[in-house]
Amino acid sequence: LKETEVQLDYQFKILLIGDSGVGKTSIMNRFTENKFNVEIKSTIGVEYSKKTMVIDQAVIQASIWDTAGQERFRSLAKNYYKGAIGALLVFDVTRPHTLENIQKIWLQEVEQHASKNIKMILIGNKSDLTVERIVKQEEAVNFSKTNNLAYMETSALNNQNIDQAFETLVREIYSEIN
Ligand code: GDP
Repeated sequence: LKETEVQLDYQFKILLIGDSGVGKTSIMNRFTENKFNVEIKSTIGVEYSKKTMVIDQAVIQASIWDTAGQERFRSLAKNYYKGAIGALLVFDVTRPHTLENIQKIWLQEVEQHASKNIKMILIGNKSDLTVERIVKQEEAVNFSKTNNLAYMETSALNNQNIDQAFETLVREIYSEIN
């Protein structure tokens, strides 16, 4: 949809959260531009990128926020969380400590700085790397149940489950307010 031609019913700020290198920028680029870039990105990335979606006839503009490298400092600016209504908590299925850090760092960050009713989904990215994979699906599912999160596996490279992940999150947010 062309942004200029439609009246938006809602604007949702959605965050990408997780360790460096898990694929946050790649997921954002895949979703908003259907692109996958193999090049190494610059230190300072894009702040956010928008995509308009239609859910049950409601026109919703999702602004997807990327950390732009701030996550290396294990903490994100307060401004990043301001007004956020949803988040994808991303780890890399080939690097188990990126899942551990969801628990150790990122869930606590969200609890401290984000709105209390922020909706979140746990994302195991790089599902295409079947040989290098270390985190088993069952492990991630158990983790997600313990933390009361939905879980989905994605590949920004193969475009697997990317639209579905955002749609699931946006539907969950939408159903809460309708
Ligand atoms: P960020 O630091 O979390 O934003 O991660 P990036 O989006 O920069 O991705 C880190 C690296 O992982 C890059 O080399 C990407 O090309 C690669 N990458 C991201 N998503 C995928 C994926 O789904 N599959 C594979 N095989 N590589 C990915």
